[in-house]
Order: sequence, then structure tokens, then C-alpha cells
Amino acid sequence: MDDLKYGARDKRGDWAPSARLELPPYWTWPPRPMAILKWLAEYLFPWNAFHMAAALAYWYLVLPDVAVMRTVSWGWTLRLYAVNAAAILVLYGSIELIYYAKRKQGTRFKFNARFPADHPSNVFWFKSQNIDNVLRSFLISIPLWTVVEVLMLWCFANGYARWLGVADHPVYLAALAFAAPMIHEVHFFVVHRAIHSPLLYRWVHSVHHNSINPSPWSSLSMHPVEAFLYHAVALWHLVIPSNPILALFQLHIAGFGAVNGHIGFDKLELAGESTLESHAYAHYLHHKYFEVNYGGDGLVPLDKWLGTWHDGSKEGEARMNERFRRKRDRLNARRRAAA
Ligand SMILES: [Zn+2]
Ligand SMILES: [Zn+2]
Repeated sequence: MDDLKYGARDKRGDWAPSARLELPPYWTWPPRPMAILKWLAEYLFPWNAFHMAAALAYWYLVLPDVAVMRTVSWGWTLRLYAVNAAAILVLYGSIELIYYAKRKQGTRFKFNARFPADHPSNVFWFKSQNIDNVLRSFLISIPLWTVVEVLMLWCFANGYARWLGVADHPVYLAALAFAAPMIHEVHFFVVHRAIHSPLLYRWVHSVHHNSINPSPWSSLSMHPVEAFLYHAVALWHLVIPSNPILALFQLHIAGFGAVNGHIGFDKLELAGESTLESHAYAHYLHHKYFEVNYGGDGLVPLDKWLGTWHDGSKEGEARMNERFRRKRDRLNARRRAAA
């Protein structure tokens, strides 16, 4: 496919889309029903439908009886870790294999023309972004994801959370499922903004940001504090009346959905002219510029409201640079006052 029909490449070879990032159309007035319908189809398929299908598969095929989950034991919890790890290996590993190892579509639609494997760096374990990211995912983040999952299931099994049946509350639970990606975005924004404070950034979040040019394995490359807080989004379902399948769905939006921001390509080429939207650009810009786009695609546009939204346009770039300049001026003034 010709990616230059959809964007432009600079002299470093980095590609950027020509269309700026847009907030979901329900934020614009007057309403645009056709745009909302198109957005709705993309909201549901394929990513969120996949996360829901995975939640149902876990509930019916992976998890033991509720009676077993009343007690935490190595048997079912280790099995759960093994399934989470295997699922991540297949999902992230296949995207990595096709687009980063075999490089099936070269650098078409790729935001950063370089591939991490070609650039060893001392910031990573064994000087390799891939090895570092894989080890952190499987040794730190997926175990902590499983800890959150076990805690959540154990609470539901013991009646410590309000468990609503699907047959009794179909409308409420459907609405909650619909809102789950929005809950994710708000939770992620708050946690993420907090770990960008200077102290927590140095201690915690810098680990994730070592991958300036992220690949799928970067998605869950996190410090343990971040890995726990990130997946703890599922624990909101212990606070609001919910259902364990919805809590699993919420957890999968975090665990499996983390890959979206780190695919590194705007579109994945499928057969012929058809492509799969990665939804990676907003978070790619976060990895590039650090202090923009703390949230996601703007389902709940906290970045827009708080002035940290970068839509990829020249104006967005100018707004960001102006904000950075004001911040530098403030810091310099403070330093001068302290001297
Ligand atoms: Zn990231
Ligand atoms: Zn960050």
C-alpha cells in the first residue's frame, strides 16, 4: 500500500498521518449522526469485542468454579498466570513477529523509521529493548496483573463485592460494559499523570519511558508500582455494583489493550487495500514528547480539558512548545528566586 496517500515522511524516514487526531464525534456540536455510527462501529470492533470475547472465554473455559475461588491457592492462581502469559505471548508476540521481526510491511505507516532491535542501548537490561521489555512483562507486569485478577475474583467469590446477575440487570450491565473503556481512560489518565510527577517519574515511570520508540513488547514494560496501579482499574468493579465477567473485561482492556498504544504503526496492512487501525498515534506522541496525551483517544478528553492534548498537527505542536516554554520560564524564575 502507498502510505503517502495517508500521510507524509520526513527526512529521517519517520511517517506521520496527515489527518489530525479527532475526539470521538459525540463531543462535537451540532451532532453528526453518521460520524457517531462510524465511530460506534470502530469502538466496538475489533478491539473491544476481542476483549469481551476473551473475558467470556476466561469465565467459561479458564476459571475454576466459584467455590474454588473462595480460597486462594497455588493451583488455580498459577494456572491463571500461565494463561495470561500465554495469551500475551500469542497476541503481542505475533504482532512483534510479523511487523518487527519479519517486517512484513517494512516501514509503511511506521511512525519511527527505526526498529528497536537494530539499536542496542545501555538503558535496557542486556542492552536490548526487546529482552528488557519481555523480561519485565513476564516477570513483573503479568504476575501483578494476575495478583489484581485473583484479588478481584476472590472478593466476588466470597461476597465482598456486589455481584449483579446478567438476567436480572441486563440494561445496567450492558451500559457498564459500554462505559468500561471510558473508565479505563479516566483511571489510566489519573495514574499516569500522577507517575509523571518528578519524584514518581524518576522512581517508577521512567522504566516504561526507556522505550522512546515503542514496540508491542514495550506495552507492559513497567515498574512494579505502575504495573499494579495500571491493572488495578479492575478493582473499581468491587466498588460499583458489577459482575466478575465485566471486571475481567475491564482487566483485559488494560492488559491486552495496552498493545494498541505501542504498535508503532498507524495501520496494519491486511489483504488488498484493507487495513486495521492500531489507535497507536496518541500514545506514540506521548512516548515521543513525554508530557502530552496522558490519556487515550479522548473518550473522556481529560487531556483536551487540561491543555495537554496533542492531535499531531502543526498547531498541536505549537501549543505543546508554548506550554513547554512557559514551564521552563516558571522553573527558571523559581531557580532565580531560590538563588
Ligand atoms: Zn506507553
Ligand atoms: Zn508516560
